[in-house]
Amino acid sequence: MEQTTIGSSGVKTSRIGLGTWAIGGWMWGGTDEAQSIAAIQAAVERGVTLIDTAPVYGFGRSEEIVGKALDQAGLRRKVQIATKCGLNWKDGQVFRDSRPDRLRREVEESLRRLRTDYIDLYQVHWPDLETPFEETAETLEALRREGKVKALGVSNYSPAQMDAFRSAAQLDSVQPPYNLFEREIDADVLPYAKSNGLSVLCYGSLCRGLLSGGMTADRVFEGDDLRRYDPKFQQPRFEQYLAAAAELEDLAKDRFGKSLLALAVRWVLDQGPTIALWGARRPDQLDPAADVDGWSIDEASKKDIDAILARCVTDPVSPAFMAPPEKRPAL
Ligand code: NAP
Repeated sequence: MEQTTIGSSGVKTSRIGLGTWAIGGWMWGGTDEAQSIAAIQAAVERGVTLIDTAPVYGFGRSEEIVGKALDQAGLRRKVQIATKCGLNWKDGQVFRDSRPDRLRREVEESLRRLRTDYIDLYQVHWPDLETPFEETAETLEALRREGKVKALGVSNYSPAQMDAFRSAAQLDSVQPPYNLFEREIDADVLPYAKSNGLSVLCYGSLCRGLLSGGMTADRVFEGDDLRRYDPKFQQPRFEQYLAAAAELEDLAKDRFGKSLLALAVRWVLDQGPTIALWGARRPDQLDPAADVDGWSIDEASKKDIDAILARCVTDPVSPAFMAPPEKRPAL
């Protein structure tokens, strides 16, 4: 498994990270604890040592399951835990809150749920536009000095917001959406990360399953699964993305003898100082991990991939639907 160091933190990790949003159940139609624990342990067996979670994933459930899985198998020292802060919730309503008091409380709650005394990478989940970025950064820098966290990251931040954060703390990483279908960061965040030595933890590497090779037009999404309202999964656009996925699958097989999933993850890793976050909730979903290593996509194939996307996806849409409201509700 390819390795990297997160920014200038010294924290070493695998370039594939296990995403555990679905393991929390919320917005993914529920969770199965035994399967989730098996998936986390299977990831580590396959060399995936970075585990990305967040308090908001299942309102604590994802972090609890990660903590239990690592504890049961004695894996804590073999993995790097990336969790987040700066989102709060009340009665199922999620809102941004990166005020110092909230962060101080959150880190203690995460440490308890994760059954650990340090977090390898602590990331602000979404920019809180009502709290000065410098205040958030100063609080997190203090947590780093206290040894509670080893590296600092932000998620869904713009370059200007990262500039403000970096005036008060050492920033090691940024976590934006990035995959073959969602490339908005090519314009700003990715070049910014490259010139400022940041690692880029790319979320949605499989575009929520569209790039997994297993998605079909008749797939039924259960319960609160976000794909019931994700604009990419609504017709007629869904057909466009599925058509592109089918052509990409042929290209992956013909040129590289690989699956669509391996092509999608490889593409993310070939774009720069990137780490691919791959969401999985069953151990078998991680079986293709070994197919990602030891090859790369040549420039001619990248151009052909772009041509497939331009031809098939005539009505593209960004992942902006996932953003929580910008203003805090009156509570
Ligand atoms: P993703 O990685 O693009 O897709 C995950 C989904 O793909 C899985 O839940 C599974 O869906 C399907 N899948 C995975 N492996 C598969 C396989 N081998 N065969 C067939 N299907 C497979 O989406 P994501 O989980 O949203 O993103 C990854 C991680 O990024 C998250 O878990 C989270 O840690 C992070 N993230 C962060 C933010 C943020 O704001 N910072 C936002 C989104 C995500 P089914 O199980 O339903 O089939």
